[in-house]
Amino acid sequence: MNRPDLGIAYFGNRYPNHARADLAEMAALGTTTVVHTCSEADLRWNPGTMAELVSIGNELGLTAWFTPWALGGIFGGEASSYAVMEHPEATQRDNLGQPLPALCLDQEPLRALIRRWLDCAAAAGVTVVTWDEPHLALPNPKSPDDRWSCRCGHCQARFAQRFGHPMPAVWTDEVADFQHDTTMRALEWMIAEATARGLESGLVLLPDEAIGDRGWRALASLPGVTWFGLTPYWVFEQVPSENVEPWLQQWLERMQAAIDGLPVRSVGWIQAFAIPAGREAELARGIEIMDELDIDMVAVWAFRACAAMSELAPADPLKVWTTIETAVRARAAGVNG
Ligand SMILES: [Zn+2]
Repeated sequence: MNRPDLGIAYFGNRYPNHARADLAEMAALGTTTVVHTCSEADLRWNPGTMAELVSIGNELGLTAWFTPWALGGIFGGEASSYAVMEHPEATQRDNLGQPLPALCLDQEPLRALIRRWLDCAAAAGVTVVTWDEPHLALPNPKSPDDRWSCRCGHCQARFAQRFGHPMPAVWTDEVADFQHDTTMRALEWMIAEATARGLESGLVLLPDEAIGDRGWRALASLPGVTWFGLTPYWVFEQVPSENVEPWLQQWLERMQAAIDGLPVRSVGWIQAFAIPAGREAELARGIEIMDELDIDMVAVWAFRACAAMSELAPADPLKVWTTIETAVRARAAGVNG
């Protein structure tokens, strides 16, 4: 019998001896995949160390993935960006022209950064790179006064070329289409660059009711995409306990529909950070729901409930982690028994 796929994200340590102990603990828990964060600092200072961590995991039977942790300010993660500081001319601009701490998705400095990062991932020997919560620096506006991006000179020129008139400073349906297409186009390019290096791509998207599942099927259909993931973090999204099950089921069903019939496997991420006291048991139920809906991989952000990061740690990291350990052991026993 196959083991059920279990992924765990790993960050906060670059000492190989400690990593060996942590990765061995993950392997003993039945983990199949370790998702290493690889930030711009790792790219600059630790490429060889990252390769060593991948190798240690492989020895323990773990498949390694890399996630571009806050790379260029456009992916999820708690890391800072050298490239934003080095390329002030290529950062995103809000609708009033103010620079933002993220690179424009359509300019060369971001592409150069992604190419270097992919070269690092390929050299380290990972099998999958994940495109984790790629986003513009500001979300789509909910009211007319909200700022939005990107309205840099480059994007204004592309907009004018496409629509035949200047890009407005207010949010319109044309602007919404343009920003959506900019994100899709950037992802399509990144996935093709990964494929050219022999790397599979895993998408990891946010549940955003304003966007819904727009574009998901098209992204999942791109050559090179082998995993489609979702971060349905109900505590983070402030879903009340009594609504968690239908909310989670609805988002997971949308994910399954997006990949139906495609050679793509699904990943459901579990939020093991910032969990308030008393909501720990919801995590075990979330894992059960993912199994009930035949999600291919349950993945946990992150190892030992992010105890390495005080601003993100749960109220009781040990309780969160033991809840998850118990749930994944029960899951493995159910599948194998
Ligand atoms: Zn731009």
